Amino acid sequence: MNDKLHFLAKTADILIKELDAYELVNELKAIIKTYINLKDMNIYVFDPNTSTLRNYAQNWCVIDEVLQCDLKDTIYHAYEEIHGNDFVINNKAFKLPQTIGEISFKLQSLFMPIVKNGMVFGIIELVFEEDTSVNMEDLFLMKILGTQVSLKLQNIVLNEQSQINVEFHDSMKNIAKIIETQYEINYIVPLIGEMLDRFISDHLIYVFLKQGEEFSLVWPKACNDERVFDVLKQLDNDYGYILTNDDKIGAFPLVTEDEITGCIVARSMIEKLSKRDIDYLEQLTRQAAATINRANTYSTILQYATLDALTNLNNRRQFETRLGQEISITKRQNNPLCAMMVDIDFFKKVNDTYGHAAGDEVLRTVASIIKEQLRESDIPARYGGEEFAVLLPFTKIEEAQIVGERLRSAVEARPVKVDDVEIAVTISMGLAEYNRVETGEELFERADKALYEAKKNGRNQVQVNN
Ligand code: GH3
Ligand code: MG
Ligand code: MG
Repeated sequence: MNDKLHFLAKTADILIKELDAYELVNELKAIIKTYINLKDMNIYVFDPNTSTLRNYAQNWCVIDEVLQCDLKDTIYHAYEEIHGNDFVINNKAFKLPQTIGEISFKLQSLFMPIVKNGMVFGIIELVFEEDTSVNMEDLFLMKILGTQVSLKLQNIVLNEQSQINVEFHDSMKNIAKIIETQYEINYIVPLIGEMLDRFISDHLIYVFLKQGEEFSLVWPKACNDERVFDVLKQLDNDYGYILTNDDKIGAFPLVTEDEITGCIVARSMIEKLSKRDIDYLEQLTRQAAATINRANTYSTILQYATLDALTNLNNRRQFETRLGQEISITKRQNNPLCAMMVDIDFFKKVNDTYGHAAGDEVLRTVASIIKEQLRESDIPARYGGEEFAVLLPFTKIEEAQIVGERLRSAVEARPVKVDDVEIAVTISMGLAEYNRVETGEELFERADKALYEAKKNGRNQVQVNN
C-alpha cells in the first residue's frame, strides 16, 4: 500500500483514541517521525481568557513561561501570519496551490493552523532535522493531518467548555438553594463572594454595598488596591458594567428597583477580563442583586413586625414571645430573673403643654437612655403608650435595684430639649424577682404593683415588690 495512505490511516487511528493531551502529542510525533525527518512537535491553543498561546501537551502551560523569548516570538509571529493561509513555512506564510506541482522545499519549521468555524484558535508546530526536504504532495498530506487534529481539538475544547458550564449551573443551583433560605446579609454576601471567586478564578473579587452615598467593602475584609476604588467612582446611573481602559478591572453594579445598591468588582490577576468572565459576572451579579434585595426586604419586614416604630425597642408582641422563652430558660437553668416596669411621670402634661411631637421626643429619649443603661442580654420593650417593660435575665433583685436606680437618675439628669425648651423628665419604676412558680404575666403584674407604689409614694423612684 502507498505509504502516504498508510500514514494517514495511522494518524486517524490515534486521533480516534481517548488519549490525554501529552500522550496524543507524543503518539502523533512518533507516527510523523516514521514518515518524515521530524525533530519536535508542539500544539498550542489560544486561551481567550488570557490572550496567550498555551502548550496543549504540557498542562496548558503558557508558552511565555516555558520558552525563551526569541522562540516565543517565532510562535506568536507564526500565529499572526497563519490566519488566512495554509502554513507558515520557515517563518513565511504559505498557501497551497490548486494542483500538486513538482516543487521541493528545504524545511526547518512548519506551522499549521487549528481551526474552528473558520476561526484559528491554535497552531501546530513541526520542527525538522537539518536537510529535510519535502515536496508538494507531502504538504497536502500535512494539510489533511492539520485538519484532523483541528477536529479532534475542537471536540476536546468543546467538551471542556460544556463541562465547565454544567458545573457552573450545578453550583449556581446549589448556591441558590442555600441562599433562598437565608435572609442574613452578613451570611449571604460572603457566600456570593466565594461563589464568584470560584468561577472567576484568575481574578480578585470584591463585594461592595452602598451605605448612603458611599460604597463600603463587605467582602473580603480588605482591599488595598486604589484602582478598585477609583473604578467605583466612575459608576454612573445607566446600571451597566464598566471596564478600565486596560480591561483589567470590571465593576458590575448590583441594581435593585432602579437603584444601585452595591457593586461587584473583579480585578484580573493576569491579562484582562475575557468575554466569558464578563458574561459570568453579569449573570452572577444579577442573581446576587435579587438575593440581596430579597434579604433586605425580609429584614425590613421582620423589623416592622418585632420593633416599635417610634422607639425601636421590642414591641409588646415580640416582648411577650421573648418573655415566654426567658421564663422557660430560667426554670430549666435555675438562673435569677427580674422584671422592671417603667412609667413616665406626668407624661400627659408634657403632651398638653408642649404638644404631641414633644411627647414623642421624650419617649424616644427615655427609650435610648434605657438602651444605654442596660446590658446586651437585657430585653427592653415599649409596653404601652408611655410604659416600658424590661426583662433582666441572670439578675438578682439587689442588682436590679442598682440598675433601676441608675436608670432613674440618668433620665432625671437629662432634660429633653425641644425647640429651645428643656423638658424635665422623671420616671417611676417597679421591680419584681421571678419566684419560679408564677407565669411571666404574673411576674409583670407584681412589677406593675410595685410601680403603682412608686407613683403613690411621690413618683421619680424605684419600688420593689416582695
Ligand atoms: P403618671 O405620672 O401617673 O404616669 O401620669 P401620666 O400623665 O404619665 O399618666 P397617664 O397614663 O394619665 O398619661 C399617659 C399619656 O401618654 C396619655 C397619652 O396621651 C400619652 N401617650 C400615650 N402614647 C403616646 C405616644 O405615642 N405619643 C405621645 N406623645 N403621647 C402618648
Ligand atoms: Mg405616666
Ligand atoms: Mg401610664
